[in-house]
Amino acid sequence: VADAVDEARIAFRTLADRVEGIAHPTLRLGVTGLSRAGKTIFTTALIHALTRGGRLPVFEAAQSGRIARAELQPQPDDAVPRFAYEDHLKTLGEARQWPSSTTRVSELRLSIRYATARGSLRTLTLDLVDYPGEWLLDLPLLDMSYADFSRQSLTLARAPARADVAAAWLAAVTAAPVDGPQDETRAREIAALFTQYLSACRSEKLAMSLLPPGRFLMPGDLEGSPALTFAPLDVGDKSPKAGSLGAMMERRFEAYKNAVVRPFFRTHFARLDRQIVLVDTLAALNAGPAALADLERALDGILAAFRTGRNSLVSTLFRPRIEKVLFAATKADHLHRSSHDRLEAILARLVERARARAHDHGAALDVVALAAIRATQEARVRRDGHELDAIVGTPEAGQEAGGHRFDGTEDMAVFPGDLPADPDALFDPSGAGFRGLATAVEGDADFRFLRFRPPAGIGDGPIPHIRLDRALQFLLGDRLA
Ligand code: GDP
Repeated sequence: VADAVDEARIAFRTLADRVEGIAHPTLRLGVTGLSRAGKTIFTTALIHALTRGGRLPVFEAAQSGRIARAELQPQPDDAVPRFAYEDHLKTLGEARQWPSSTTRVSELRLSIRYATARGSLRTLTLDLVDYPGEWLLDLPLLDMSYADFSRQSLTLARAPARADVAAAWLAAVTAAPVDGPQDETRAREIAALFTQYLSACRSEKLAMSLLPPGRFLMPGDLEGSPALTFAPLDVGDKSPKAGSLGAMMERRFEAYKNAVVRPFFRTHFARLDRQIVLVDTLAALNAGPAALADLERALDGILAAFRTGRNSLVSTLFRPRIEKVLFAATKADHLHRSSHDRLEAILARLVERARARAHDHGAALDVVALAAIRATQEARVRRDGHELDAIVGTPEAGQEAGGHRFDGTEDMAVFPGDLPADPDALFDPSGAGFRGLATAVEGDADFRFLRFRPPAGIGDGPIPHIRLDRALQFLLGDRLA
């Protein structure tokens, strides 16, 4: 019944959007990625590039001068917070600091006045929807029972890479009487340990990606809510006994799906036309083979999310809505230019493998390596009689390298290692697992051992970037032709 009601609502919404779209052509672009992947920075840089004019040679509509102007418009949906563009730009420009990250869904509307290739003037309304990737990875839960979810979570937690940080929670699961009486205190304790385990997996060292349920890490406005006091238990294949602790957890899991995941799907996700998925690929590369394997599983989950709702009434009445998905490896400014294509090739390989496992989902996919805001410059530096490719940036205050502690004013040249030329060097020859960078690359590679401040002078002119124009061309180019 919930499905049918949902479908009816989505169908109605889609129809309303389509009717509205006839009078005012509108594109809803989702910006997502896991926490700290770079959503806030990407969205801010995109708005700036469109409204203030960036250097965008590959973005044809801008390059050929067909965009007359792009302006911020009043918020379309009253119930959704506005993306705090002006505040973020101010933090970047005046304080030369990175703004605070995305923790919930927010939107911003732009209108783009442009001349078509044939010369007639048109307006495209662009709605940007920035939301946590953790919530996207919740969508596959809609097709899972509590027993499925428990089994998947326990298998992940028992894998060697996670076992250490999962120990306390796993011990609580082992001790939990699944068929014993329901017990609120116990449920809360187990849920708290489960949440601690999930956030430990997000540490820089582990850099795990697949950690549902998403609201446990990114609660948004559900912080402290009883909707989040459940956790997987060792329930085996069958549904737990009525009145038991297991049944209580199962009920809450179903409530989470109905009260949290479904509304997100209906109100936000089902209305998107296009999507960019930002992936901090370098963080996973730095953390090692287990993080890469986990990222690959998360990509599977993301592709599955784009299929959600496909075989339903909605898709028989209306063509699938998400028509283009761009996967972007962010923070490419931590690498020298010679490695940008390599970073792109690595993410492309991961996406390709995920796609081969997924059933066809219809959307056009592309992959790019980018830096929405480029914090470094390239230089040739002499070391021991050799000329080396380096990148130069201003490390954030408190960052340390070679026993030196930076105060946020000095520049520093670093020599990021080269990524492997052949992305297959990262995969086990057997095709099953991953090899770490240490085996794939000569020497000790750490592609992000320093965090740099944003570049000086943001707000004055175009913001420096890497391949943001390629992303814009893929996501918007055909709609401005
Ligand atoms: P969100 O959680 O996805 O919204 O992530 P943010 O956009 O807030 O980015 C998280 C952090 O990653 C920022 O605070 C920056 O330190 C870093 N970052 C994001 N984008 C870039 C980029 O293009 N270049 C560099 N050097 N750092 C970036």
